[in-house]
Amino acid sequence: MDFFLGLIGVLIIAGVIATVIFGFFSSVWSFIQLDLLGINKRIFRENLSPRVRSFLSAYPYYHHLSGQGKDKFTRRVSNFIFNKEFIGANGMIVTDEMKIKIAASAVQLTFGLEKFLIAYFSTIIVYPDSFYSRMAGGEVKGATTLSGKILISWKDFMEGYNDPADRYNLGLHEMAHALKIEFLHGSDSDEKFSFFLEKWINTGIKEFEKIRGGNSSFIRSYGGKNIHEFFAVCIEHFFEWSSEFNKRLPELYQHLCLLLNQNPLNTTEDYSLSKAEITHRNKILSVGLNVFTSMNWPYTVILTGIFAGWPALIYFMSIVYAEPEELLYRAIFILALGFLVHAALLKKGIGYLRIFLFYSFFGFLPVILSVCLALNQFIVIEDKMEETYRLTGKHTVARDKKNFIVFLENGQYLNDENLRKVNTGYKDLIKKGNCLKITFRKGIFGLKYFFQKEITRCE
Ligand SMILES: [Zn+2]
Repeated sequence: MDFFLGLIGVLIIAGVIATVIFGFFSSVWSFIQLDLLGINKRIFRENLSPRVRSFLSAYPYYHHLSGQGKDKFTRRVSNFIFNKEFIGANGMIVTDEMKIKIAASAVQLTFGLEKFLIAYFSTIIVYPDSFYSRMAGGEVKGATTLSGKILISWKDFMEGYNDPADRYNLGLHEMAHALKIEFLHGSDSDEKFSFFLEKWINTGIKEFEKIRGGNSSFIRSYGGKNIHEFFAVCIEHFFEWSSEFNKRLPELYQHLCLLLNQNPLNTTEDYSLSKAEITHRNKILSVGLNVFTSMNWPYTVILTGIFAGWPALIYFMSIVYAEPEELLYRAIFILALGFLVHAALLKKGIGYLRIFLFYSFFGFLPVILSVCLALNQFIVIEDKMEETYRLTGKHTVARDKKNFIVFLENGQYLNDENLRKVNTGYKDLIKKGNCLKITFRKGIFGLKYFFQKEITRCE
């Protein structure tokens, strides 16, 4: 037991250190790169602007921008390209035109945001055509991975790019996934975007469930696959069928405007929000934007689990006395419950097993279990479970003047020194022939835990 506790302790400390170091250094790194080194200044020495302008001139989103808007767009495209590594796969050679067009889809999506780099993603892999994805278990046109890669089939990218009004746009679709992953797992998410994203999901969930229920919707049915696809598909509609979207689902459309801080229908003013929209947005922000909403919830869950959940669980586990099979039944029950929860989440279109297990182990599970064990401790259903054992000997513990360790008949609790530790107040009573009476209690979850002990004369 002691070895086991020690091992868990080491794992927890390692986990805490790794989390803190990772979180700290990734934000320091992005600060150095973006703020101190001023990548803006470096990129303009290698001026991409003329090429950006020539490749994008026919692209409607870019075309409608003012001179100033075009400058901002061009600058951001250059920056985006500078910050990503582009790799060709399956024989593909990535040209500047490809880089610019792919970057343009990211810049279009984040045009209204302050943070536009989607920094969690460092690599963009371009395939000539659809490709096999192990994660999806089949051929796909694009993918975003948690390891920070965006994968794109160039053929499908161009099909989406060439028709800007068919509500299919692979570039925008994958960038939307990436932006959401940046919010969930990255450290450089736009603060206002983060704030409105959670609210947006609440607004969209009704339409999402409608699609999942097989009902026809303005949103393409692929959006019903899961909540992530719903978001990505909505983004495609937002940019490619803006006015129809605004007519059919005005609430959802308006909320996307707030989320991305742009309105694709406002083609005369660089897609900026109207005065009324900005007032509305600031009003929501002023009451809502605080430490809690701008906090990254996955980190919060993990840190709570590691700092509070696991230590509490270890403490409670150390005072619980359960037979192995009793623990086994409960473990099976918890596992079954976990799978039911996971199945329910999957059905709702949320969650992958790997991520679910990760958050369960480091976040939810230790917290829930220690709450159960705490309840078990405080709500007593049986309070006088006495066990009495004859003493067979004692020994003193080096450097511990307050306690003796006693030995019990038949080697009872031989592995649990704490339970056999009695204080020197019993000095005269600790002799062979006397007994140790241990009182346990049973709590609401049916688990027995230590309550008190005393040395008595055997009856
Ligand atoms: Zn998708």
